[in-house]
This record gives sequence, C-alpha cells and structure tokens, in this order.
Amino acid sequence: MTEAILEAPEETGNAESQPHKWVYLFEEGNGENKSLFGGKGAGLCEMTRAGLPVPPGLIVTTEACNAYYDNNKQFPDGMWEQVVEALQEIEKKVGKKFGDSDNPLLVSVRSGAAFSMPGMMDTVLNLGLNEETVQGLAEQTGDLRFALDAYRRFASLFGEIVLDVAHEKFERVMDRFKAQTKGGKDTDLQPKALREIIAAEKQIILADQMAIPDDPYEQLRVAIGAVFNSWMGRRAIDYRRINRIPDDLGTAVNVQAMVFGNMGKDSGTGVAFTRNPSTGKKELYGEYLLNAQGEDVVAGTRTPNPITQLKKELPKVYQEFSEITQLLEKHYRDMQDCEFTIERGKLWMLQTRTGKRTGAASVRIAVDMANEKLIDRQTAVRRVSPEQLDQLLHPTVDPKTTTQALATGLPASPGAAQGKVVFSPDEAEEMAKEGEQVVLVRIETSPDDFHGMVAAQAIVTARGGMTSHAAVVARGMGKTCVSGASALDIDYGQHQFSVNGEVVTKGEWITVDGSTGRVFLGKVPTIQPQLGSDFHELMKWADKFRRLTVRANADTPLDAKTARGFGAEGIGLCRTEHMFFGDQRLAAMREMILADGVGAREKALEKLLPLQRGDFCGIFREMAGHPVTIRLLDPPLHEFLPNVDELLGELSELKMALRQARTLADMDHLLDEIDGKRQLLHHVNKIREANPMLGFRGCRLGLLFPEVTRMQCRAIFEAACQMKGERRQVTLEIMVPLVSLSEELAQQKALIDEVARQVMGEHGMTIEYEVGTMIELPRAALTAHKIAEHAAFFSFGTNDLTQTTFGLSRDDSGRFLPAYVDRKILADDPFQVLDTEGVGELVRLGAERGRSVKPNLKIGICGEHGGDAQSIAFCNEIGLNYVSCSPYRVPVARLAAAHAELEARAKADAEVAGGNGKVLEAVGASQL
Ligand code: PEP
Ligand code: MG
Repeated sequence: MTEAILEAPEETGNAESQPHKWVYLFEEGNGENKSLFGGKGAGLCEMTRAGLPVPPGLIVTTEACNAYYDNNKQFPDGMWEQVVEALQEIEKKVGKKFGDSDNPLLVSVRSGAAFSMPGMMDTVLNLGLNEETVQGLAEQTGDLRFALDAYRRFASLFGEIVLDVAHEKFERVMDRFKAQTKGGKDTDLQPKALREIIAAEKQIILADQMAIPDDPYEQLRVAIGAVFNSWMGRRAIDYRRINRIPDDLGTAVNVQAMVFGNMGKDSGTGVAFTRNPSTGKKELYGEYLLNAQGEDVVAGTRTPNPITQLKKELPKVYQEFSEITQLLEKHYRDMQDCEFTIERGKLWMLQTRTGKRTGAASVRIAVDMANEKLIDRQTAVRRVSPEQLDQLLHPTVDPKTTTQALATGLPASPGAAQGKVVFSPDEAEEMAKEGEQVVLVRIETSPDDFHGMVAAQAIVTARGGMTSHAAVVARGMGKTCVSGASALDIDYGQHQFSVNGEVVTKGEWITVDGSTGRVFLGKVPTIQPQLGSDFHELMKWADKFRRLTVRANADTPLDAKTARGFGAEGIGLCRTEHMFFGDQRLAAMREMILADGVGAREKALEKLLPLQRGDFCGIFREMAGHPVTIRLLDPPLHEFLPNVDELLGELSELKMALRQARTLADMDHLLDEIDGKRQLLHHVNKIREANPMLGFRGCRLGLLFPEVTRMQCRAIFEAACQMKGERRQVTLEIMVPLVSLSEELAQQKALIDEVARQVMGEHGMTIEYEVGTMIELPRAALTAHKIAEHAAFFSFGTNDLTQTTFGLSRDDSGRFLPAYVDRKILADDPFQVLDTEGVGELVRLGAERGRSVKPNLKIGICGEHGGDAQSIAFCNEIGLNYVSCSPYRVPVARLAAAHAELEARAKADAEVAGGNGKVLEAVGASQL
C-alpha cells in the first residue's frame, strides 16, 4: 500500500487552454494537497489510490469555494458541469444512476476544510431521495423499511443542515413516534410510522417556508452551496479565530456514493482511533453501532458499543478493519481517526485523518512512536503543540476528596474545573463576560453551542458518547468535559437539573472531573497533575533542540522550587515588591511607601530588610547556583496603597460608632482611630497618582529615595554572603527597573556597587554579581546603546513596553481590546501575544543597539510574552539569549523554544534546497 500511495502525485495544474479544474474524482486527487482537497478529501484520495475499500466519490476543491465567494456567491464557471460529469463516472463505477427512479444512486455530501472544523457543515446522507427514488431504493434493496428509514434521515438532515431548521423540531417528531413503538428505539419504527415521520418532517420544513427540492440535482446544488456558506457561518468563524486558522483557506466539498450501515444486523457504522485519544495507549479505540447510519454514533441518540465488541459480533470485519487502520497509521506515521461503514458484511472506509487527542495522549503517542522508530525525535517534539502540553499541566480533582459524585458520565476531556451551572450557551457567554466562572450543562451539544463552550470552564452533557460533538470539541479546545452523564435530568425551562431527587439550579457551583467523568456539587479541591515519564522524556528531547534558555519569573522560595521542578534554568525576574503580598508584609511595605521623610522611611525599611534577606536566602538555596535576577523594587503605587473609597467608608463607620459610644474610654479609643485614619487618608491623597502605571515607580523610587535601594542591596548581599558561608553557589544578577535614561542606570549602579563593597567588607567576602536593566520603555529601547554602557544584561519588560508603545493602560485596556480583536483591528491581544510589528521592532532594535556597543550583551525577555509560543518564536528569531515566564509555563516555553529552533532550521534547510514553495511546505507541514 505504501508504495501505491507514495507514487508521484498527478499534475493538478491545467494547461492554459483547458477550463479550470474545480472537481476531482478521488482517484485523481492526492493525499498531499490538503489545502486544495481538504483534510477529509485528501484522506479519501490517498485511501482510494492505495486500493482500500472506499466508496467512489468526487471533491469540489477549496479553490472553488474561494471562487464562489469572489464571485458574489455564485458557483464559478464550469464547476457545476464538472460535478455532473464526475457524478457520471461514479454512476458507472457503482452501476446506479443519480435521480433514477428504478436504480437510484444516493450520495453523501460533506464539508472538508484543510483543518477539521467542528463549526463546519455536517454530513447530509442519502441525498438523491424523493418520493419516486425512495420506491426505487425499496425495490433495489428489497427492503421498504430501510428505504423509508433512509428517506426520513435524509429529510431531517437536509432540513437541519442545509436549510438550518432547528434540530429539536425533528427530534421531537422522532421521540413521539419512537414512544409509540414497543421497543422505543428508532429501529423499531415500521414503514407506516416512517411514512408519517417523513410527512411530519416535510411539514416542519414547510412551516419555516422552505422545502426540500424534489430534483436530486437541485438537492445536490443547494447542498454544495450550503457547505460553501457554512465556511462563513458564525460557528466556523468563531472556531477559526480561536484556533488561528486563516479565513481564506476555504472548504472543499466531498460527494460520495452512499453505502448503508442500516441494512440489518450485518451492517453498521462506527469511528475508531488507532490509539486511545485520551490516554495515548496503543489500542484500537472507538465505538460502533449495528444497523445504524453515521449520525447515530456521533449524535449520541443511541449508546454505541466499544469497538472491541465488534470482534465478537463480526470478527472478519473487525480483523480487516484493524489491519487497515494499522496500515494507515504506519503510512501516515501518526494516530488516525477512521470512520467506517459495514454494508451487509462488507467493510467500507469513509475517512482517515490525523486524530485529535488530549495533551496527555499527544505526549505519550509522540514518545511511543519515536521509541517504535515510526518517527524521529525531532518529529516527536514537533508533534506536541504548546497548547497540548499546557493541557497536561491542568489540575485534577484531589483523589483524597471524600465528596460523593453527584453523577458519573464519560471522561470526555481531562482536567478539573468548576463554575456556576448554566444551561444555555448565550448565558455562558454573558456570565463569562461579567467575569463569572461557568459550567455549561446541556442535554447534548451541537455546533450552535460552540461560543458557550468556549466561554465555559467545563462542559457536561447528559447524552452522547466519547466521540459526540461535546467530547470532540472539548478535547480539541483542551477543555474539561464529561459527556453522557445520563443520570442528569435536565429541564431547560426551569433552569435546573435533577439527579436522584437532588435538584441543582442555575447559578449553583459544580466541579467537573473530565479525567474520570465525575460531576460534583460545590467546589471540590483540585490538585496539580503529576507528570509522567513520557513528559520528562519528551522535555529532555526538546531541550536538546532549543537554543533559548528558559528561566522563570519567581518571587518566593516556593515559586523558585516549582520553577526548578518544571525545568527552569534560572530566575529571569524576581519581582521584589511581590514578596510583600500578604497581610503582615503588606503593612510593612505600606509603612515604607507612606513614610513622611527619610527617618520614617528608614525605620520602615528596617522591618523589610530581614524579610527580604530571608526570602533571598530561600531563593538562592532553591536555585542552587542557577542565575537569579533580582529586580529592585518597582511598586506601582495603587497595588500597595489602601483604597481611598474603602478608607472613607471605614472613617464614616468609625464616626457612627463614636456617636453611639457610651464610655469615655470607648470615645478616646475611637477618636484615636479616627485620627489615624485621617492621617492615612491625607498621606494617600498626597501621593495618589492619576496613572500609577506611569508614575513614581521603578528606578525613579530608588533614585529619589536611595535608602530603598540601599536596604534592598544590603538584603541581597547579606543573603549572598550567608550562602557563601554555607558553601552554596550563587549566581547573582541585580536588575534596575523602568529605566529610560542611561544616567538613571549609572546612578543606581553606583549605589549598588557602593553597598556591595560595604557588605562584602563587613563579611570579608567577595561576591560575584552583575548589574543590568529592564528595557521596558520606548526611550530605553531607542537609546539602548547608551544604556548598555552601564549594563551587563538587558531584560525586555514587554508588559510595560507594550503599554507604553501602544499608549494603552495595562489596567484598563481589557475594556476595549477584545473588541479590537473581534473586529480584526488587532490579530491578538498584544498583552498576550507580542506585537512583533511594533513592540517587537523596539525589542529587535534595542537588542541590536545594545549589542552594537557590547557584542556579548546577555539579553532576555521577562514580560508575559516569555511564556507565549508565538512570542518565543520571535525571541528565537532575533537572537535573544533567554525567555522568562511564570513557573507553570516553563515546560510550554521549553517546548515552544525547541519548536522555534526546529522550525527555523527547517526553513533554512528549505531555503538552501531552493524555492519558496518548499519553505511554505516546511512551515505548513508542522501546522497541518
Ligand atoms: C514588564 O513590564 O514586562 C515586566 C516584566 O515588569 P512588570 O510586569 O513587573 O511591570
Ligand atoms: Mg515592568
């Protein structure tokens, strides 16, 4: 098979005189060109060329979709004729005729973008049926019940998917008729009932002032248009935005001869992965239903059986399917997600594509496949996305919890999350916008729910299997999900669900454990995951490929320990003001900030010194000789001052209390308190700033109040001497914040050196240290060559640099930045993803200018962007030495740094190999 597939792809270009080719038969296409044929189409072409059992079909290309949009939503010239022509080829192959009332050919119509997208149009099955062809189908198969069943499915699918009629309306009809049968299942419906269902379905569509065309060709034309339209539907656009898929890729349309899984007990349909998509275990993992069509499995209307059961029910088919899937995995060198149908004992393959997987599965599969020599280690590292790794670092429910689960469903997507129960996606979105944590609880989800799923912390459904919509979408997003929690009796009208008599109403908290399928009432404690050996193995490989060093932003000994545990190679930013969060410490910090005069300040600083020294010792011990960059105090005042409104409130309460006081002692005490509060208010008002983020912070504080810098440096050097006394190694870097003038740094450095000499003299010791600076203001970046004269290193503070480059406040811009992203004024929130064009240009320029005077200047980044994969790639590209990010993001940064370097090498290799096309391929390959 491999050889057959690996034949050189056929030329897909056209000679100039030939009309443009919009339509390809499966055997004409190839598996390489996902951007033209879509992912599904490419897989079908590949399987067809390899001689696997695939029902014949055609693909309308993504180019046709794009031309449709360029052409005012009209099919491009010649496209429809090519569809009809290709359909004739399919007719010849299967010996049936499309629209023929005696021997009708039926087709399925599916969307198929280059990336599988849950927001896209689903499958329409059995297209080509009408009142006449359904008779033909009954005669052709000798099974009237089957023919009518196919027709009622087609009517509801066409109504729902092509004409956009609400799914529930069709479901209600089905439920009503099923309830009248003995067994209560769809397979118990007899021809009479099926005819009535079809009539009812048509009536529903008519009530919405639409109709299913009688002419099968017209059905096909409308369905292809609907697939194209779904590309620009809200769900698809939302999905692309979240997954960073460009809007101009377009979708292909697959039209394929039907095979039927609902022709009795030796027929069926299912989906299976070549490895377990939740855990990564090497096993055939999936579900199937006998006597069913595709949507029965995914919609969760019947509970499917595990694929292993097929081994007993249809052993030969199972064997063949298992062999084919193994072959496909070997060929694609990746885990495959395969769809199949069995028609009267014959296996048909309907899809193969790279399977979506959880973070844990992704790591395990990558490591296992490299160990099985199916892929090399570079590929293994590139296979795991930073987002997947991030997922792996999600919390789980504390196993020691004694709380009983309210209900248990399927462990559809791992992680533990909690939130207030909501029942509608719109509510989920609204409440999340208000800053609430919500869990979306639905009977089952559909693509219509996507925006609510995005907004929710977790998703719970009462129906649906492991491959249901909710499960697949949640896994893709790395969102906790429990599906098929059938004990939940959900009442949308009453905004509540009940489980065994216990009623849970909208707004109550629940905790969802997507790893075990449990749903708990209330907030149950969660813990961070233990990372397995696969994770460590993969990280080891990634570390070999990266060039950037990864450090952590860690402010306390505990942070430092966590960071080391995640593999941080140093601390790139210790925000010393963060050491004073916490009630007692905050009081000492406030006293220092509010001190009136040097004397009072020095007194307050005396209290801070031992606290800082103790913390520095703890951090040095944890870091065991790895570099530690300690930044001098940079307290934006509003983070540390009492709130004026609160103070006023407290003052008026004290005054009330004074009026009601009965004893002289009480009055005295209250008057003292009032006096104290008044003084505090007076001080706060005196130093309050209109925009504290651009105020008296950073080195400005240390320059005007040198006693602050003195105290900090004393604490640092005393701690370093203590470590030396304990024979511990310390690699010390002292960093000056918010510098915009080289003289600011020069003066602070002189002070640091002076205190260093003093403390070293007192201890009779020498401590090696370096003094460097943050570059976080545009002026600093522009004058970096001057600043570099006094600096041993630069660390780009891209949080402040973004704020000051854009002229946006870090505190308030959340009010309008999301709208900017929504309206595509900005591609991303620049506080999350580095704006390479503007802020990044200042970083590049600052680094270049700094190195123009000191070629070996050590340069890193410590803004939030240091943990963002895209931003890390940019840091790699411009030759920075390190990135620094919060401890939990360190593994992601290590992996992203490896990806960045591997991608840069692939790009360089492709450039050497020549040709722009190759560059695109090399870059694109890692994204597909
Ligand atoms: C920065 O500005 O990027 C930075 C790291 O400093 P802070 O966030 O503490 O202002
Ligand atoms: Mg800053």
